Amino acid sequence: MIILLVGISGVYTIMNLNDLNQLIESIIKNDSRIIKLAEESLDDLYSLTAAEDKYLISRDPDYYQQFKNIRSDFTKRVDELEKIADTDVKTGLLTEIKKFQGLYDVLIDERKSLTVQEKNNQTYVIDREMITREIDQKLRNLVRVSTEDRNTKLQRSKDMSTQITNVFNISLSLAVILVIIITFFNTRKINLPINLLSERAKEVAGGKFGDPLNISSPPEIKELADTFNMMCERLQELDQMKIDYISHLSHELRTPLTVIKEASSMLQEGVFSKVPEKQEDLFVLIKAECERLILSVNRILDFSRMEAGKMFFSFQKASLRPIIEKNVLKLSPLIQKKKMDITLDIPEDIPSLRMDKERIEEVFENLLSNALKFTSEGGKITVSAKSNGENNTIEISVSDNGRGIPEDGLMQVFDKFKRVDDKRSAIRGTGMGLAIVRHIINAHGGHIWVKSKVGEGSTFTFSLPAL
Ligand code: ADP
Repeated sequence: MIILLVGISGVYTIMNLNDLNQLIESIIKNDSRIIKLAEESLDDLYSLTAAEDKYLISRDPDYYQQFKNIRSDFTKRVDELEKIADTDVKTGLLTEIKKFQGLYDVLIDERKSLTVQEKNNQTYVIDREMITREIDQKLRNLVRVSTEDRNTKLQRSKDMSTQITNVFNISLSLAVILVIIITFFNTRKINLPINLLSERAKEVAGGKFGDPLNISSPPEIKELADTFNMMCERLQELDQMKIDYISHLSHELRTPLTVIKEASSMLQEGVFSKVPEKQEDLFVLIKAECERLILSVNRILDFSRMEAGKMFFSFQKASLRPIIEKNVLKLSPLIQKKKMDITLDIPEDIPSLRMDKERIEEVFENLLSNALKFTSEGGKITVSAKSNGENNTIEISVSDNGRGIPEDGLMQVFDKFKRVDDKRSAIRGTGMGLAIVRHIINAHGGHIWVKSKVGEGSTFTFSLPAL
């Protein structure tokens, strides 16, 4: 719109400036020149008669030459005037002047051959006076007409300049007003949704999520609002997850504490004082629940270190096999209790790796205890390792033929607080194990992924860079 306005006023100004230019050119080339030539011709006219008289009286050839020169100048000027005359009136006047000039030439030729008395002849004097008066009059008329024309053109050029200035000023003012209006509306259009977003952000900061924002605004702001909505949705989800998780974790910590409390009360009250085997069982139970509690608390501590970015690693060259065997041994009472079959498929020449031994032990402990936890009695667990020459990594897998993970949960098992299908399941856990495992593997420069089918089992595989 502004460009159109500027364009139109530009074209108008250029066209008018052209006209103005032509007008000024015509003033300079025609009117001023005509006035100047006509005034010079008038001077010529009187110099001509004076030179004529002097020559005819003295017969001095110098005067005759002077007369000829003036006459030639006069003729040249009149010829030029005829060429540049731009109106019929001027052309008419010049035709008249030429006619009288011709008469004057004839008169001179006649006079040259007369005697002195005849030269002073009254008729001749009267004729010449009449001719010069006519030429004088016509030339003065020419000056007057040209002066009038020049004044009219000057007035017109003045009007045109004023008009051009006015149009320029008006279009400039219009453009400025338009810019102000457009800027005002644009600013309003941007400010309104931004204010809305800011208000909503304050509400979200106060824990009030509300409905998603639906604002009609420029595409950039709309995109921002959509991202904001997505962020709110995610925050709300995390908020809910946190609430669910805290209740789950409290339960997770309360269960062993309740068992310990009940068992120790029974021991204190001497319920099985006469049955030492039962008492022994109670001690074993208390110990197992204490270990579970320590494990859970250790996980929570690990998790908070991980979240704070303060999980430190001490890397060294170490062999995989002893770590795996140590963990299998640690879990063997449970493996036996559940009558599980565990197979190790680790090549003898599997190379040593750069790792934090304790953290990698933690990884195995997590993966193996999950496999045990989510596989029913008599199941099968396999730990295997192989070199992947393509990526120059060692890939280690822990597979089970347990309950498996539903497809929609596969992407989430490594997320913090995530317990797939945990509501209906009676299987205990903090939901932090795999998040910690992934963090440890990533810190080693490796990756972890899972393949699983419900009812068939799961395979967790992680890769570690070879040396
Ligand atoms: P948790 O301490 O609850 O086991 P994890 O982070 O170790 O937490 O595991 C997260 C979830 O992943 C578990 O709650 C479970 O739903 C699923 N999961 C992990 N390992 C297995 C497995 N071997 N078989 C089936 N599901 C598993």
